Formats: sequence, C-alpha cells, structure tokens
Amino acid sequence: MKKLMVVWPLCLMLLVSYQMPVQAFLKPQYDVIIDVGHGGVDGGTSFNGILEKEINLLFGLELYRQLADANYQVAITRIDDYALSDDYKGPRLNRHSKDLRQRAFIANVLKPTIYLSVHINWSKSKKAHGPIVIYQKNDKSYSLATIIQKHLNNLYQTDLSVLKGKKYYLMNYTDTAAIITELGFISHSGDRAKMLDEQIRSEIVQVMVEGINEYMTLIGIQEEW
Ligand SMILES: [Zn+2]
Repeated sequence: MKKLMVVWPLCLMLLVSYQMPVQAFLKPQYDVIIDVGHGGVDGGTSFNGILEKEINLLFGLELYRQLADANYQVAITRIDDYALSDDYKGPRLNRHSKDLRQRAFIANVLKPTIYLSVHINWSKSKKAHGPIVIYQKNDKSYSLATIIQKHLNNLYQTDLSVLKGKKYYLMNYTDTAAIITELGFISHSGDRAKMLDEQIRSEIVQVMVEGINEYMTLIGIQEEW
C-alpha cells in the first residue's frame, strides 16, 4: 500500500520540488491531484445536518485509493477535516479567497496532469439530480470533463452536459486539465442515497478512474509507461 501523499505542508513540497532532477520537469510529477472541496469551518452545502465536506472527503479518499492502486502518482489536498485557508501565507484576504488562493497555489506549483476537485451540488428544486462536471476554459480540461461526464452519465443513467466554469482557481498553468466533479445533489433523495452508500460511492469512483484512464490514453501518457 502506497503512503498517502498529502500536498501539505506546502513548504515541504516546495523543498521537494526544488530538489527534483531535471527529468522531473519534462513530465509532471503528479498525474492527478485530488482537491477535496471545503473542510474545517467551511462545511460546503448541507442537508439535514449532512455536510458536503464530509461526503467530499469520503469520495476523495476512495479516489486516492483507486488511483494509487492503478499506479498513478497521486496527491490529495486534505485527508481530514480542516480548512486549507489555515495554511495560507500571504496578503490579508477573507477566508474564502485564502482557500481558493491556497488551492490555486498547489496546482500552479505542482503542475499535475489532472487537477480534479470533488464537490456535491445543491438545488432549491427537489427534482434536480445527477452528476455535473465543470471545466476550466481550455481544451484539455474540456476533454477530460466530457469523458468523465460520459462515464458518470452511464452510471447515473442521466444525460447531463458539462458546464464551463469561471476562473475559479486563478490557475495559470494551462497544460493541466482542471475540472470540478459535482457528484450529485445533496438536496435530491436518490442522489443522497447513492452518495451515502459506500458500495455505490466506490462504483462512482471506479467510473471516474475509467474516465481518467481514457483521458490519459488520449493524451498519450500511458504509452510512455
Ligand atoms: Zn462545494
């Protein structure tokens, strides 16, 4: 079993990055960074006391496990319940901005092939349901998003489309495919039941890994292994 690589504390990661041999700069060191949404004082969305941050973490850890088992170089932004904004060192900002800056910093410094954020949706409408993948505005992000959306649609039996995101992470490294996976609506009873079921969570993660495999094949990384 591989040691869980958490991208924290960042000063240590930077030290490691600076000591990497030249070769490490030719290919991203990390295939996938899993960004687990919210944490600590920031619970994200919620329903009857169930907090998004907790479901995100369950998905994130399972995704880490399955990707590591498939021999990907993978890191995760948090493995417990804490706010990333607590690690932020920089100008005074509100907590939300600090949190986003911290996540952008991780992506911009580590330049992974894939930066995948895990979130859960909410809607006023009780009918809104299903997975939605949001992409950063560049070709690689769009390709990855459409592939993962297709796999998730098959599993959820939905026909939803990807959405273009705002420049949510201030990311400036366009070679990274950056997506947010909204893995269902906490406000929908069917979605909620899926997301709270360990076996179904594992199946959801499995199809996400299949999507990542497909994307990696598309961009030719797997051929180099
Ligand atoms: Zn969220």
